[in-house]
Amino acid sequence: MSLSIKELIVEADRCVACGLCLPHCPTYRKTGSEADSPRGRIQLMRAVAQDILPNNTRFNEHIDLCLSCRSCESACPNNVNYGALVDTTRALFIHKKSILPALAKPFIRYRHLANIASWLLWLTQQAKLDGLLKKISPAAKLLPPIDKPVTWNSMYPATFQRKGAVSLFLGCAGNALDNQTLKASIYVLNKLGFDVHVPSRQTCCGSIARQMGDTDESSKLVAQNQLSFDQTIPVLTTASGCGAGLNDYLPDHKIQDISAFLMTCDWTTIPIKPLNERIYVQDPCTLRNVQKSHQAVYTLLKKIPGSDIQALPGNSQCCGGAGAYMLTQSDMANSLLDDKLTTIKTNSVAILATSNIGCSLHIANGLREKNITVAVLHPIQIIAKQIGYGV
Ligand code: SF4
Ligand code: SF4
Repeated sequence: MSLSIKELIVEADRCVACGLCLPHCPTYRKTGSEADSPRGRIQLMRAVAQDILPNNTRFNEHIDLCLSCRSCESACPNNVNYGALVDTTRALFIHKKSILPALAKPFIRYRHLANIASWLLWLTQQAKLDGLLKKISPAAKLLPPIDKPVTWNSMYPATFQRKGAVSLFLGCAGNALDNQTLKASIYVLNKLGFDVHVPSRQTCCGSIARQMGDTDESSKLVAQNQLSFDQTIPVLTTASGCGAGLNDYLPDHKIQDISAFLMTCDWTTIPIKPLNERIYVQDPCTLRNVQKSHQAVYTLLKKIPGSDIQALPGNSQCCGGAGAYMLTQSDMANSLLDDKLTTIKTNSVAILATSNIGCSLHIANGLREKNITVAVLHPIQIIAKQIGYGV
């Protein structure tokens, strides 16, 4: 949600400076600086909005270092809307250095260009030229091995006793880098009796543009999505980063994380094969603090007979893979990632379930670099396999 300057000041005034949010803030825990805490940032944002402090480089640095993980919001007894404060501050005050590169915008906005990019990426990997790509761009090291790009049908009909219809939000990173999860989602939903619509005009959720202070771009993307999705049926997201952005900016639509939606479905007629494995669940901040539906992932995976579902210790702390943050603030992102990798190693994790593509790319890249073998999977991929997907 974006605010006016006046609304920003009113919202910031609701912070009573109790400090209860401080221990929950990953950046404050790392730097120990009040200016990198939610309370400190709120004071800074208000002071800049009131022209008491200058909008200078130091202010920009403290705002840029915020992960937008919104752990502070979950901890705040006064329900201060920190997400709206930081989104507004980024839109109004953060210097243009953070604007998305102009070259990247058409690939984010237009699906056919995004599809061309996916094909080029896939062909590059098939030709084993991705090593070269990694030398050209540091961002390329985050790329996992990708599946052949998919040309989506506009609708996938229910395969068993039709019960309703949903729309599937593809997401730009999800579509390009993890179409396995999207294909598995369609399989599960069809099997549970749902037609799955995949509107072709849908585009990026706009969260990365917003996080980088490019409000014009994020508003265009939101408007395009607004026109693309039917408001009368649920719009399901498989990446909680997208889901959180859509939740905030498309309030007229029924946005839901896919695991939460699946908990409302009738599974009684679906045989689920046992899996005698321990599965650790990583809670993405956007699922936990914004969509507040992380518990659905545990309930969903516990449907698998024989499985032992455990929360990854330290789940309340962000992994650092917060959208473009892992590239723009790599020191902090890697420091937070190191904590996760230590936990993964200490607990001998073999399967890690995560519901956000950003977390998945960041953690999987860290594991690759440290030669730690862990299957990092979306929970839908895990349950889809147990009910026959890909078999
Ligand atoms: S959003 Fe996260 S990083 Fe930013 S102030 Fe709140 S807890 Fe700290
Ligand atoms: S918990 Fe809420 S009221 Fe207390 S300092 Fe943090 S933001 Fe302000």
